[in-house]
Amino acid sequence: MSVYKALNYGGSEWTPQFVLSLDSEKCIGCGRCVKVCSQGCLGFGNMDDDEDADRMIANIANRNNCIGCKACGMTCVKKAYTFEPKAV
Ligand code: SF4
Ligand code: SF4
Repeated sequence: MSVYKALNYGGSEWTPQFVLSLDSEKCIGCGRCVKVCSQGCLGFGNMDDDEDADRMIANIANRNNCIGCKACGMTCVKKAYTFEPKAV
C-alpha cells in the first residue's frame, strides 16, 4: 500500500498519521486534545448511551481537517486515540 508522504521544512520526507478513532471508554473528558488541535478537528459532547448521558467526552468532529500531526494523541494521558497514514 502506498501512503501519502509530506516534506518537513528541511526537505526530509515524513508520513503524517491522521486521526482514526477515539476510544470513548478511555476518555475522561479532560479536554486537552480539543485545545491542542490547531485544525479544529475535535469537539466535545455527551455520551450517546443513556447510562452515561451526562458524561462529556471528546469526539472527532471534523476529520477532514486533520493534518496528521498526532498532537492530540501525544497529549492524551489515557491513550484514547489511534492513527493511520492516508492511502494513496
Ligand atoms: S485528551 Fe484524551 S482523555 Fe482528555 S478529552 Fe481528549 S481523548 Fe479524552
Ligand atoms: S492529528 Fe493533529 S490535526 Fe489531526 S486531530 Fe490530532 S491534533 Fe488535530
